[in-house]
Amino acid sequence: MREASFYIAEEGGKVKCILCPKNCSISEGNTGVCGVRENFSGKLYSLAYSKPIALHLDPIEKKPLYHFFPGSKILSIGTYGCNLNCRFCQNSDISQEFRKEDFDNLEEVTPEQVVQICSKYGYKFAAFTYNEPSVFFEYMFDIAVICKKNDIKTVVVSNGQINKEPMLKLIEYIDAFNIDLKSFNPDFYRKICGGDILTTKQTIETIVEKKKHLEVTFLLIENLNDNESEFVELCKYLSGLDKNIVLHISRAFPRYKMEFEPTPLILISKFEDTAKKYLNYVYTGNI
Ligand code: SF4
Repeated sequence: MREASFYIAEEGGKVKCILCPKNCSISEGNTGVCGVRENFSGKLYSLAYSKPIALHLDPIEKKPLYHFFPGSKILSIGTYGCNLNCRFCQNSDISQEFRKEDFDNLEEVTPEQVVQICSKYGYKFAAFTYNEPSVFFEYMFDIAVICKKNDIKTVVVSNGQINKEPMLKLIEYIDAFNIDLKSFNPDFYRKICGGDILTTKQTIETIVEKKKHLEVTFLLIENLNDNESEFVELCKYLSGLDKNIVLHISRAFPRYKMEFEPTPLILISKFEDTAKKYLNYVYTGNI
């Protein structure tokens, strides 16, 4: 556990976390929406600091990143928690269905130890992934700073729900991003995911402005976010930023609170064809 960055004290012992657009006002003994940032005696703490649930070596293509050092292996780090509550969440066991007591059962791995593992085995890449890394900002940031000193490239796989100030602090130490863009419909973000599309767009635009490597993932779900005109708007938005942004169209499977058929392959192909009219690099995944 470690004191959090990006919060302000409020009256009555409450604290306001200003890390993500939820901007949770948290009373003593409670956590914010993400479940991993807790108010202890009027200070905000990150429960996830140095508590990874997984440190795993993956192919970089699995993040997915297809245009960033293809063929490399990447040490992937995740904890518990998420600042969205997507009803179709594809990894709800670590994002939604955990208790804060579960952190007690995890072994401590400090940022220095993560980088020592990379150095010992010659790993040149580290990813913050599996759950939403914004919610373990301090752990991610400290690892990324040491990685940069040790010439290890870093990758963030995120829903993009992070406020501008922390994003600007983080981005200096990150080399590549994969950002989920779940729909181009603000109501979808609000009602199905409990999120704010404008923040995800702001994050994407910051990455483009700062000239960091960016790939985007769109999880296609039949009858949920398969409105073709909205998808055309999404593709036009990305191509307006840069036609070379890589787009991954990913197949969805029924998980968490939603029952639906796995995305039909014919629908994936149709969306792939549409996206290729606007973007130079479109891939399908999870099929
Ligand atoms: S990071 Fe967590 S506690 Fe902070 S504003 Fe977002 S959901 Fe709330």
